[in-house]
Amino acid sequence: MDELLDIRNEIDEVDKKLTELFEKRMGLVLRVAEYKKKNNLPVLNSRREKEVIEKNVSYLENKALKEALRDFYAGLMGISKKLESEELEIREEGEIYGLLGEKLGHSFSPDIHKNVLKSLDKYGIYNLFEIPKDKLKEAMELFKLIKIKGLNVTIPYKTEVIKFLDEISEEAKNIGAVNTICFNHGVLKGYNTDYIGFGNMLKKSDISVKASTCIVLGSGGAAKAVTQYLKDNKCREIYIVTRRPEEVSLNFSGCRIITYEKLKEVKGEVIINSTPVGMYPKSSVSPVEKEVLANFEVAVDLIYNPLETKFLSYARELGLKRVNGLYMLASQAIASEEIWNNITIDEELTESIYDKLLAKVGKKNEK
Ligand code: NAP
Repeated sequence: MDELLDIRNEIDEVDKKLTELFEKRMGLVLRVAEYKKKNNLPVLNSRREKEVIEKNVSYLENKALKEALRDFYAGLMGISKKLESEELEIREEGEIYGLLGEKLGHSFSPDIHKNVLKSLDKYGIYNLFEIPKDKLKEAMELFKLIKIKGLNVTIPYKTEVIKFLDEISEEAKNIGAVNTICFNHGVLKGYNTDYIGFGNMLKKSDISVKASTCIVLGSGGAAKAVTQYLKDNKCREIYIVTRRPEEVSLNFSGCRIITYEKLKEVKGEVIINSTPVGMYPKSSVSPVEKEVLANFEVAVDLIYNPLETKFLSYARELGLKRVNGLYMLASQAIASEEIWNNITIDEELTESIYDKLLAKVGKKNEK
């Protein structure tokens, strides 16, 4: 009995010291908040958080306590962030984000953003805004009125929204299409994170386009982002394959514009499907025949539903390296969150968001 009492007394002493240290730590957190306020810096820095946790885990002598200590620090960080946010008078409740498009029934974006916001400990909702073409102007005005924080933009508005923006990023200007809008105190700025997502997807699959002949099927918003990435990454030659060669040439300077008939005579390294052909529910078709794919080494499909399109099934049968658009989808969404919230999201979180998405889409594909 005495022994138990002694131990409890010792615990009380440790707790007292912990309380003193907690108070000291929160005092320092408030000084950080003050510094950030002065220098206009964001609250969250997930990389710094991870570093702090892992540094302290490395000090442990009893390694069996690793996970428990990680949980302890995660909780402590949560409290610190809340205190910092309050000091900075940040109201995160009810932040509104969303996807703007004409028909959005198939979208996985709400799931991705819900997972990102949850992982970042942020409160917000991500809505689907299905807007008919003749109501776009009114919709943009309404987004301002409801103080929306960020919008993603999809078919058919990636080019049309540009006229409603106050500013446009360099990459979006070069591409001529916007898929992300940040609303900052009434100022609307457009970005193109399809460009970033496409690049990250190629990097993840270890696909280099440098000095390659690349074929882009389609001439829409996604094709423009893909083409800009190919140009910036020094591919040798770019062919744009379109059903309307006479109409699209102006948008793709420095590229060869050809028809699907002409494509049969072209050989190269990488062929990219940037058309919706093969997308659910019309998944039994491919934009090109199997014989065309035999002229290439790598097949990339921007479509992610189904995970294996007819186009990619031909590529598999021919033994080509191949990749679907799911990682691009996750990566462009994460890049949008980084812009809206002025944060950097680390690779580990990106991978975990992608894994959750893959499980969800994979399950859907099995049905
Ligand atoms: P978009 O602006 O509507 O352009 C699609 C282009 O595909 C059109 O310009 C058209 O080019 C061609 N096309 C359309 N219907 C066709 C048909 N029946 N046969 C042959 N070509 C056809 O769409 P987008 O935004 O570029 O998106 C294209 C695809 O990429 C969609 O499937 C979309 O879901 C996917 N995407 C995926 C991601 C991702 O994160 N994975 C991101 C963006 C887009 P021509 O008229 O010149 O032939």
